Amino acid sequence: MRKWKRSSSFGYHMGCTYRAALERQEAEGNAEQEIIDAVEANAFRTNAYAAHGTVSHWVLQKGMGCAFPKLDENGDVDHGVPLSPDYALEHKYTDEELDIASGLFSNDTTKTLKIAHAVASRAARRIQKEFPLDEGVYWMAELEVDGICPGHIDFTSSDLKYIIDLKTATRPPGDVAKLEHIRQVHTYAANTGAKRLAILYVDSQKADWDHWVDWDLNDEELLNYFEDTLAANELLDSKDLFKYAIRSFSDANCTWCPFKKICRDRIMDKFRVRHAGTSGSCTQPTSGFRAQMGIQ
Ligand code: SF4
Repeated sequence: MRKWKRSSSFGYHMGCTYRAALERQEAEGNAEQEIIDAVEANAFRTNAYAAHGTVSHWVLQKGMGCAFPKLDENGDVDHGVPLSPDYALEHKYTDEELDIASGLFSNDTTKTLKIAHAVASRAARRIQKEFPLDEGVYWMAELEVDGICPGHIDFTSSDLKYIIDLKTATRPPGDVAKLEHIRQVHTYAANTGAKRLAILYVDSQKADWDHWVDWDLNDEELLNYFEDTLAANELLDSKDLFKYAIRSFSDANCTWCPFKKICRDRIMDKFRVRHAGTSGSCTQPTSGFRAQMGIQ
């Protein structure tokens, strides 16, 4: 079976188990053609924003002197790996990604790199201020994990105490972090055991702002909430997923869902409200109707 769960999409899967069930069906080769077509049409293709994020991530990780660890043959992290230029280059953005990213900045790759460096400088200052590391501890970049689901963690401290996910964004977050971002970071925590978790949002266009949120899984209430991630993971892997999958219609879930046309649109179209209109004529009995009903 093709792997279908990823840390980056885990939040969406938790948000709508019906979506998760359709994706799993497709990955297992049991899906109907329209589901296969929907998945194919939505297959990830990088866009300028995603490509610019990739460039900025690498510039920051390299600039902070992160180690880019490899897993050994047992799948364990080799914590002894110091900063290795070779490993770093494996994660470097491609020329094509830089070209695509430059679409945001008048197709000027020099300007694009300049912005990426400004984003990285801003992010580095915030990380060093919020999560200073103990002597001898260093940041690892793109740590590969594959416990409850596969993914790469932007920043993990080598003592596995801290995890940070960087979000380059065009708009600041609201008052609380996005749920799917929190859930994504929780999959990283489940895979590594890290307790101090953070998301750093940075202005991808001008590096004018950065916003930070961190939390500690030693807090009992948060630990309780974190355990939802483990329960959701069990459900996603079990046969019960197909039995209990529930369509969770909401703009947040459905707007970017690949199954929107064959799921939400088909169902919710049947619940269209026929509005009275602005004149109010439908809510007032007509004279013919009044006479028929004996209304004066
Ligand atoms: S369209 Fe909405 S309800 Fe349907 S699978 Fe997608 S997210 Fe779930």
